[in-house]
Amino acid sequence: MTRKRLTPESVLARLREVGAIADGHFHLTSGKHSPVFVQCSKVLQFPEDATAIGAALARRFRDVEVSLVAGPAMGGVILAHEVARALGVRSAFTEKQNGAQVFRRGFRLGPEDRVLLVEDVLTTGGSVLRSAAAVKAAGAAVVGVGLIIDRTAGKAAECLGLGPDVPVHALAFLDAPAYLPEHCPLCREGRPLVRPKEQEPVG
Ligand SMILES: [Zn+2]
Repeated sequence: MTRKRLTPESVLARLREVGAIADGHFHLTSGKHSPVFVQCSKVLQFPEDATAIGAALARRFRDVEVSLVAGPAMGGVILAHEVARALGVRSAFTEKQNGAQVFRRGFRLGPEDRVLLVEDVLTTGGSVLRSAAAVKAAGAAVVGVGLIIDRTAGKAAECLGLGPDVPVHALAFLDAPAYLPEHCPLCREGRPLVRPKEQEPVG
């Protein structure tokens, strides 16, 4: 994966190979059910893959001036680090606090900072938007959003609504349906439901 140019197809193939994309019947954190679950830790656990993914994402932003790469914990921590390595800048991460995403651990941002936000999987964009709020609260600018997987089937920019000056790039796209439990065809088929956090059937 490291020497080849990553295409959306090769990224998806590698994620499936390592089980980062799984097919089944999953209970998502949103409460909805989906036949597809994405867990990028399964691929980022391999440092060569993490570096290749970070470099591929960094290339999408080569024309953007960036001083810091930041992502929401946990999904964005390793990714931010690897994209920052490729761009030759520093990295940071935001953490949940009282419903917001905040910079802690001594990370300092200021008006001079141009921040590229990264996230492993974008579904609703909530944690990216809360991280963008933390960047803006520090007086810094969000100059781009980089994703491994855009689960909105290419509607990430629209979904985030950060404006035309903030490019949004993903390495791969998934159009994975998510159903309210009462409308879930997989429930109707009686397929066992899996809560991915435990990776065990819940009934
Ligand atoms: Zn279901």
